[in-house]
Order: sequence, then structure tokens, then C-alpha cells
Amino acid sequence: MKNEASTSHADRHVRLFGRENSALAYEIRDFLRRSVVDFDWIELQSNADCQRELGLPVLDEIRMPVVVLPDGERLFEPSVRELAHKLGWITQPRLKEYELSIYGAGPAGLSAAVYAASEGIQTVLIERSAIGGQAGTSSLIENYMGYPEGISGAELAERARQQAVKFGVDILLLREGIKAEFVNNRIRAVMADGTQMVARANICATGVEYAKLDLAEEDRFLRKGLYYGAGASEAQMCKGEHVFVVGGGNSAGQAVVHFAKYAKRVTMLVRGHGPKASMSKYLSERLASLSNVEIQVNASVQSLIGEDCLRQITLQDNRDESQQTVDTRKLFVCIGGKPNTEWAKDTPIIRDDQGYLITGPDLLNDGKAPECWPLSRMPYFLETSVPGSFAAGDVRHGSVKRLASAVGDGAMCVTFTHRYLRETM
Ligand SMILES: Cc1cc2nc3c(=O)[nH]c(=O)nc-3n(C[C@H](O)[C@H](O)[C@H](O)COP(=O)(O)OP(=O)(O)OC[C@H]3O[C@@H](n4cnc5c(N)ncnc54)[C@H](O)[C@@H]3O)c2cc1C
Repeated sequence: MKNEASTSHADRHVRLFGRENSALAYEIRDFLRRSVVDFDWIELQSNADCQRELGLPVLDEIRMPVVVLPDGERLFEPSVRELAHKLGWITQPRLKEYELSIYGAGPAGLSAAVYAASEGIQTVLIERSAIGGQAGTSSLIENYMGYPEGISGAELAERARQQAVKFGVDILLLREGIKAEFVNNRIRAVMADGTQMVARANICATGVEYAKLDLAEEDRFLRKGLYYGAGASEAQMCKGEHVFVVGGGNSAGQAVVHFAKYAKRVTMLVRGHGPKASMSKYLSERLASLSNVEIQVNASVQSLIGEDCLRQITLQDNRDESQQTVDTRKLFVCIGGKPNTEWAKDTPIIRDDQGYLITGPDLLNDGKAPECWPLSRMPYFLETSVPGSFAAGDVRHGSVKRLASAVGDGAMCVTFTHRYLRETM
């Protein structure tokens, strides 16, 4: 059976119509962009726009946004799931049981999928959102080996997806693993939609979730001026704007450089005395060279102000707690995050105090495996405290939080998966 996901997403042109500050339109744009789908975004402001673009007379009477699919079908106010379904991307598992299930299709999960399937392991890759994970939101990755000019995260992920599909991986998009149990050398995972997935081994590559600012109005302005992550799909909409980016690390730095190409001015808000020491040298140099970029240090966002969408933010100078209110319609929050490991909380998988999955030698205490470990051998390098259950990428305790390391982890997990599958034949 041909996996629907094997066709290139790029050959399907979609048109999206909607109002400027629609949260759903943002969600759809973000999903399409991360999935490398060619699309036009057409903003509708008046009945005349509506008549001209859609042949419908009254703007207020339309359920927006409207998506026009490549075959001309119109979807009114569709969910991302509905849209993905219409584009043929939600597939059903082909097998009742797989040799390997991988949760998370970021760089670690994609790499594991490519290596596992290319080595003949029956593999299913489960992703709750779009392919690419955090890397998929990056406008330009410049430090990944083999791409001297840099590559957009979404394009890199799409190439990996095609490679995985070529080797026969089943990819299930918009499915989220929420619970797991380990019985008879099998992992049984329950998905958010109630379905179950059974596999002999599994790799958790669920990465990290963006941290929030912890402000009262965050939910109200989410995707209506306030965005978590670099929001690469929004860059075009930043023309002529004064954009603020919160964060002092690599992802914030990249976002600033990208937005600076479109925005009138970009202010990077850093809580401490300057960008993080971990920021790559090339990025700090790039930031310093951009005339429309400024770095405001000792700064934190105190409140978000607006009616239907964000219009102003209040900033505090952390040295003397003085405050000022500034106009902006675009605030991007890139302050790292916490691991996606809620699903593991009722399992014997050991997590550290921040929720990262502990693996291999880090599980040992005085050279001894934890009490819950049932085998005479020690856990393999990337194996969690449950035999056959591995962790790769940012979700792993002690991980480096870099694309190449996530890809390396994914590939390495496959070697251990082989050993584990042989042991439990
Ligand atoms: C904007 C930005 C720019 C970056 N730029 C660079 C760079 O230039 N160079 C570099 O080396 N690194 C960069 N990084 C860091 C790099 O992207 C990460 O280290 C890398 O993506 C980690 O990969 P991962 O697969 O471990 O996790 P993630 O990328 O976080 O992917 C995890 C995936 O798991 C999915 N998921 C989570 N929970 C579940 C669940 N329960 N069920 C199913 N799926 C689930 C998520 O939706 C996500 O797709 C950047 C990060 C960001 C945010």
C-alpha cells in the first residue's frame, strides 16, 4: 500500500483567506509552512475583498478562515486536523504491532526513523503536530554539517520525511501519545484520539515545549500578536513593524536575524546582562552587524495590552524595576522549554526533577542499576529504566539541545534497538 505521505507536500498549492489577527489562521499558516506546503495567504478586510476573492458578498457572514484546496474544494473555519485529513496526511497504522514505535518527528525521531527503516526494522513514527519539531520552526539553520549556505528547518525536515517514507516508515501525523504501559516486552501507548499503538521497542523523541512568560493575558493574545517560538511563518507579516523577541539563546538570536529582514526594527529582550554565553559566535556577530536590531538587557515583559489583538507591552528594567509601555503588534517568546514527558509519569521510566528522561550510565548509582531495572545487564547508553524504551534528542537528560546531537541520538538509539530486539526474539 502506498503511504499517502510519500508524495511531496510541496506540489500542493493551497490558498488561505482570513482576517489579520485570526488565531486559527496563524495555526494553519504555521502548520502549512512547517509542512513545506506552498500556500498564499490573502487577508480579507472588506466585503469588496470578499466578493473579489471568494465571490461571496458579506465578509461577516463567512466562517473564517477559508482554505481553498488544490482541487478547488473550500473549507470554512477548518481545524488543522481537518485540513491535514483533506490533504491526505493522516494515515492509519498498517500493522497491528510494529517492531519499533517512535514518538516525535523532530530531528531525533526523523533520524531514528530513517536509520531504523533503512536497516529493515518495521517502524512507525507518531507525531502530534507537524514534521520537524523545534527545528521545523527555524528559518535558517546555519551550523548543520553539509549545508554551507544554511537550510530552513522545515526543508531539512521535509527531506528527512521523504527519506523515511522511501525506506518504508509509516508516519502518523496529528496523533499524540498520552499514556504508556509496558507489558510482556511490549509498549502499549494510548493516543489522544483513544486508539492504541503496540510495539516491541520504542524511542521517545518528544523534545521540549516552549516555556511561557507566565502573564495573566497570555492565552488571550496567543497567536494574536503573541507567539511562542520563532514563528517563521509570521516574518512576512512583520513588514514595517517594531517586533520584540524575548530570549537570549540561539533560537531567539535566529529569530531576531530572520525578522530583521522584514521588520522596521527588532528588539531582543534579554533578562540578564546580555545574550547567553551558549549563543553561537556566528549569531552574536550577525546580531551586532544588523542596523535595525537592538538588544535590551535586564529587561522583562510585565504585561500585554490590547483589545482583539496585541497592541502594547509593558517592559521592566530589572535593575531598578522602572517600567515603560511600548507599542508593538508582534511579540515572539523564545525562552527554551520543558520536556514533553507527561506520558511517562505513571510508568517506571525515571525522569529527573525537570522531567527529562534519564538514560544509560546516568541511571546508575554506585555502578548499580535502579531497583526497577529487571535485567542482569546494565541499561544501554540511551536506554531508559524500562528495557527496550529509549530516549533521543532534547527530551533526554543531559542532552546538548542541538540539531546534530538530536540526529546523532536518533541514529544511535537504532543500534541499541537492534540489540534489544535480538535479545527478546
Ligand atoms: C527556532 C529554533 C532554532 C534552532 N536553531 C538551531 C540551529 O541553528 N542549530 C542547532 O544545532 N539547533 C537549533 N535549534 C535546536 C534544535 O532545533 C533542537 O535541539 C532539536 O530540534 C531537538 O530535536 P528533537 O527531535 O529532540 O526534539 P523537537 O525538535 O522538540 O521535536 C519533538 C517532536 O515531538 C513531538 N511530540 C511531543 N510530544 C509528543 C507526543 N506525546 N506524541 C507525539 N509527538 C510528540 C513534537 O510535536 C515535536 O515535533 C533550534 C531550536 C529552535 C526552537
